[in-house]
Amino acid sequence: MAMYDVIVVGAGPGGSSAARACAKKGLTVLLIDQAEFPRYKLCGGGVTEAARRLLGFNIPKEIAEREARGMRFIHENVSLEFKSSRRVVTMVMRDAFDNFLAEKAVDAGAEFAQGERVLGMKKGSNCVELATSKGMRKARCAIGADGITSVLASSVRPPFHRDEIGATVGAEIPAKEKEIDREFGDMVEIETGMLGFGYGWIFPKRRTLSFGYGAYLDNSAGVRGALIGYLGRHGFRSGYKITGHMIPFGGTMKRCWGNRILLAGDAAGFADPFHGEGIRYAIRSGQIASEVLATALEDSDLSEKSLAHYGARCYDEFGRELKWARRLARVVYRDFGLFFHLAKKNPSVLENYCKTIFGELGYKEFFLWSAPRFPMFALKSVV
Ligand SMILES: Cc1cc2nc3c(=O)[nH]c(=O)nc-3n(C[C@H](O)[C@H](O)[C@H](O)COP(=O)(O)OP(=O)(O)OC[C@H]3O[C@@H](n4cnc5c(N)ncnc54)[C@H](O)[C@@H]3O)c2cc1C
Repeated sequence: MAMYDVIVVGAGPGGSSAARACAKKGLTVLLIDQAEFPRYKLCGGGVTEAARRLLGFNIPKEIAEREARGMRFIHENVSLEFKSSRRVVTMVMRDAFDNFLAEKAVDAGAEFAQGERVLGMKKGSNCVELATSKGMRKARCAIGADGITSVLASSVRPPFHRDEIGATVGAEIPAKEKEIDREFGDMVEIETGMLGFGYGWIFPKRRTLSFGYGAYLDNSAGVRGALIGYLGRHGFRSGYKITGHMIPFGGTMKRCWGNRILLAGDAAGFADPFHGEGIRYAIRSGQIASEVLATALEDSDLSEKSLAHYGARCYDEFGRELKWARRLARVVYRDFGLFFHLAKKNPSVLENYCKTIFGELGYKEFFLWSAPRFPMFALKSVV
């Protein structure tokens, strides 16, 4: 049985970024995914500029389906718009995007085993052994980038609490490119007001409208109905398929490292509790994981103590911000009507809100900017 330096489980943005970075450092890497690629993944497919910058390579034109420069924001049939002079989000379909990232990992030297499901992991004194649907795999250490239902995470952290999870549903609606151009142009749409603690979205692609609705798990009983209503208001009453998926927000409260193992992306709970962005944090945590493991492998110290540094780096680079995002989510989603009213009266509220979504303004900055101007909001974050 071949012995790799690192096995990366899951070839989403987190796993492929980790595998590519490990291979570029000269490590022997096996990237494993249960699916045959390209595979469908329910997602808005919005890649922010902050996420794009992390990649270190361009997204080809055929994969970057549409570029957004602004956001249409709808609350109880009233619409506000924010437009930027720059591109703020690139729209991708995840089957093509994730396949492209996996190819990048292979180009860098990673081996990619597709259609192989990891069933469990056992740790030895000098290696990890993974039982898979095709046999056994062995490496000196592992990265669990296997999403919210991570098999590897169970050896590292307890399951996420209900209030650390967002429940989402979505549907992909085929549409004519010209019609999408006419109705959306370079805008994405967000709609609130149907449910507490959540929102709906339309992320337009080249010839597809990705509709979705999401809310915190405890408030999510109506997400399917809210999505059906949203689709209906846009004239889509049948002929579509609704699928569901969870988004984990609990990463800043949980451990993401253990003896010979690190968790990255959704497996670690690194998604944004305010608006659900996860691709950016999956990519970055995968990259940090590769750096930490490369050093640990060189020092021959893959102990839990040595790898704790990974948690600290993730927290410093983005975890602290995600905590502020959680605080902001509690305030804004609790009373979206009030927030919308403020944004309508004061365009800088809308502008700064959109800038946080697009990764141009930090959550802490936004919070500290708004607290003295709108003390009611600051107060609501503590009560
Ligand atoms: C409805 C919805 C909309 C979203 N919209 C956006 C958005 O617009 N922008 C954004 O940035 N984020 C968005 N997100 C979040 C984003 O999709 C995730 O945060 C991101 O995909 C996390 O990447 P990852 O690599 O950690 O995991 P994933 O992308 O989930 O990849 C995990 C991989 O692991 C594989 N796997 C799982 N279990 C096993 C196993 N046992 N063995 C082998 N392989 C396994 C899976 O097949 C999968 O390929 C959205 C999420 C949802 C649900």
